[in-house]
Amino acid sequence: MRQHGKLEYGGQAVPQRTCVGCRAREAKSELLRLVRVEGQVVPDLRGQLPGRGASLHPAVKCLELAERRRAFPRAFRVPGPLDVTPVRAHLEGEPRNVM
Ligand SMILES: [Zn+2]
Repeated sequence: MRQHGKLEYGGQAVPQRTCVGCRAREAKSELLRLVRVEGQVVPDLRGQLPGRGASLHPAVKCLELAERRRAFPRAFRVPGPLDVTPVRAHLEGEPRNVM
């Protein structure tokens, strides 16, 4: 089931993405890009990690919303749950798991 893709750029000057937590549309630059590395979701702080990305407001609230609705497995097209510890650590200001 594909629900997005067509409106990816919306014909606007500023690329927009949808936050996987609260589902609000936001300028891409305002959102944190997340990528999947093995079974973990990690913040792509430099925007350079390869692969499918998901966008999230840099807020614990949105991370929790995303977890509750199991948005990450859907966003990354994987069947199982993903560990979001690195993202949480980043949002809480503890960069221990960030490369
Ligand atoms: Zn959000």
